[in-house]
Formats: sequence, structure tokens, C-alpha cells
Amino acid sequence: MPTSSRPTHAELVSTGAELLSGRSLNSHARLLGARLGELGITLARDTTIPDDSTVIRETVAAAADRVDLIFISGGLGPTNDDVTRDAVAALLGRSIVTDAAALAAIRDRVTRAGRRMTAARGRQALVIEGATVWLNPVGAAPGECLEQDGKTYILLPGPPPELSAILDAHVMPWLRERCGGASALRERVLLLQGIGEGDIIPLFEAAGFPPDGITTAYCAGAGRVEVRLHPAPDISDTDLNAAADQAADLLTPYVYARERIELEALIGSHLAAVKQTLSVAESCTGGGIGQRLTDIPGSSAYFAGGLIVYSNEAKQTGCGVDPATLETAGAVSEAVVRQMATGVRSRFHTDYGLAVTGIAGPDGGTPEKPVGLVYIAVATPTNVVCQEYRFAGNRETIREQTVRAALMLLWKCVMDA
Ligand code: ATP
Ligand code: MG
Repeated sequence: MPTSSRPTHAELVSTGAELLSGRSLNSHARLLGARLGELGITLARDTTIPDDSTVIRETVAAAADRVDLIFISGGLGPTNDDVTRDAVAALLGRSIVTDAAALAAIRDRVTRAGRRMTAARGRQALVIEGATVWLNPVGAAPGECLEQDGKTYILLPGPPPELSAILDAHVMPWLRERCGGASALRERVLLLQGIGEGDIIPLFEAAGFPPDGITTAYCAGAGRVEVRLHPAPDISDTDLNAAADQAADLLTPYVYARERIELEALIGSHLAAVKQTLSVAESCTGGGIGQRLTDIPGSSAYFAGGLIVYSNEAKQTGCGVDPATLETAGAVSEAVVRQMATGVRSRFHTDYGLAVTGIAGPDGGTPEKPVGLVYIAVATPTNVVCQEYRFAGNRETIREQTVRAALMLLWKCVMDA
């Protein structure tokens, strides 16, 4: 079978009516785009379409007119609406066959789970004739790879954990080999918290940044900005690194990482390494900080727990906040958030206590204490650090900005310790 040269661009065809009706958020493009980027392959387009054979055929054919590498996700299951495999087989003029290894793997999964093997389950071992079959480490339907007329078609199951597992176990190694160990996309990344794109650009302009041959790209959301530097082919890695260093210098107080990593993961690996612990007391974020911290596997090593102290009474009984302080300063105040942080820290016997209180809106604001006013405090083994914030946006974005700002303040305190 002819093997085409190293792919530079790929497209994704995401199938599933639920992705268009608002029932599911299409997350495949994000994952695939990131993973292909590691190999220097650009995900050039993601087309989301319903589970309709004709539309699938047309869309896959159109993608193959533009690029050499086409991913098609979803619709490989046993139900009537799973038509992707048949549609692609028809497009390529191939038949459908049962893959013995996939069938054995499905039978094994089914019996280990104490269930009965059924014809419907067996249908998930059907593949397109001539496909390289990639067994699914976490589900039934395998991935399939077909090469025809210099084009590569990769079919992957819809459930994100399954797509992700096949991507890691099979697709990435296969592509890496195919790319001949080609170097990853040359870029440098800075992750920033607490500054907007609109403030970065003038800072760069005043410093004459970026240097010739380097372009910048931005991706922003909820107070977090990712700055990417891309070099022209004649720019050396040394010059690219120097540019990244210069950008980091210009943006020092806001830079928290120079690789794609979440703040909660950074905090977690640091606390785990130094064997320190953390607890949280949350008012306006309603548990959002605790959720973010526990998103990280292994967080029980350093995260003791948290309290959602929404009412004044809860702030008193949960964190030992003085009723007189609540009375005089109000629940959204520096004095209260400091007591929340020290209170939760001592209640949970942790090294750090993180606390937030604020007005997420839409109601509850006053001229002195408007919607978006937030206080965040970190009680450390030696002191209490507190900061006032004034966020703009709606309830959802104010809460998200609060979570991120709290993690950033915590990260600074942990790093300064
Ligand atoms: P299954 O064997 O589970 O039926 P499948 O390959 O047939 O797998 P679908 O039926 O299309 O896949 O989708 C299964 C699940 O995966 C659905 O819950 C669907 O919402 C989800 N899913 C499919 N495509 C996407 C996507 N692009 N992003 C996020 N979720 C998706
Ligand atoms: Mg399905």
C-alpha cells in the first residue's frame, strides 16, 4: 500500500447529533489539536456533523481533498445511529469484516464484567476491510486506520476517554514513527495569570518585542492568557529561547509556567514534593477551588479538605470568624477573609489555609462593595497574605476568575515560602 509522506495538516470530522443539539460539548478537537501539535501536525479544520451516512461521506471526501490525514470520530458503537464505519467503507469502496482480535478482546471484557456476550456487542468488532485495527484499552469499539490513494483515514470511537486512550496507546506512536521522529512544532509557551491580552500587547510594543522572525499568538480565558512564540524557519533554537526569556522578563509577575500545565497541578506537585498540606474555605466560589484542586490525581497527599461557608453563621461555626468582625466589616472584607484563612488552616491542621469571599452577582452589590469585589487570603506557616480584586463579568466568569486568582495567590505564597 503506498505510504504518503509525513503529514503536515490533518482534519477532524466529528460525528454525533448530540454535539450539534447542545447535549454534548465537542472536546475531541481540543485534545486532538494539542496532541497533533506535539508532532508538528496542524489540525486545520474540525467539522461537526450529525450521524448521517450521506453527510459523513461527503464531509470525509471533502476533507480528503484538502489534507492527507483525516480523523473521523464517533458512531462506531452497536446502535442504529452508529453509521460512521459503514459510511467510510462505502466511500472507500470496501466491505465490512469482523476483526478476530477485537472480537476476542470484547468477549474477554464482557465475561470479566460478568455480562453475556450478545450479537450487538459483537458488532463492535466490525471493521473496514484492510484496516489496521487498534484495540481499545478502555472500551469496546477499536480504532481503525486505513490508507488509500495517499490518504490516511483514522476512525476513533466517540467517548472521550476511549478516543484519548487509543490516541495515546496507538495513534501517537504510529504517527511519531510515520513522522520519522520529526521535531515537534517549534514554539515556546508562557502561561500568565492576572493580566489580559490587551495589557500584554502594549508592554511588548514598548519593548520592541517580538524580535524579527518571531510571531506571537494569544489564547485567553478567565484571567488566564497563553502566549505562544513561533519562529520563522531560519530562527535558531537559541534565539527562540532568548525571545521566550525576554517575554518572561517583560511579564514577570504574571508568568506562572513556561509549559502547558494547570496551576492546580503545579501547586500539587510542589506541595507533594515539600510534604506540605492545604485546606480551603470558600464563599463565593461554592467549592470550585476544592474541585479544581481535587481534579489532580493524588491530591489527597496534600489537600486535606475544604468548607463551603456561604452564610455568616457558617463562616463563624466553620472557620471561627468573629461575629463582631462580620458585623462591622461585612462578610466581603479583608478582615473576614483573613480570619477564614487562619480559621480553616487551624481547623484542618494544614500548612496553608486558602480563603475567598466576594460578590459574584448579579445581585448583592452596593456602591462601596460592587459586584466583582473579591477578597482572597492565604494563611501560611508564618503569615497571612491578603489581596483585594475587582473582577468584571457575569456570575460565572467572576467565580472562575476568583478560582484562578486564588490558585495564583496560593502558588506565589507556596513559592515564596
Ligand atoms: P459507543 O460505542 O459508546 O456508542 P461511538 O463510537 O458510537 O461509541 P458515539 O455513539 O458517537 O460514539 O458517542 C458516544 C459518546 O461519546 C456520547 O456520549 C457522545 O456524546 C460522546 N462523544 C462523541 N463525540 C464526541 C466529541 N466530539 N466530543 C465529546 N464527546 C463526544
Ligand atoms: Mg454510539
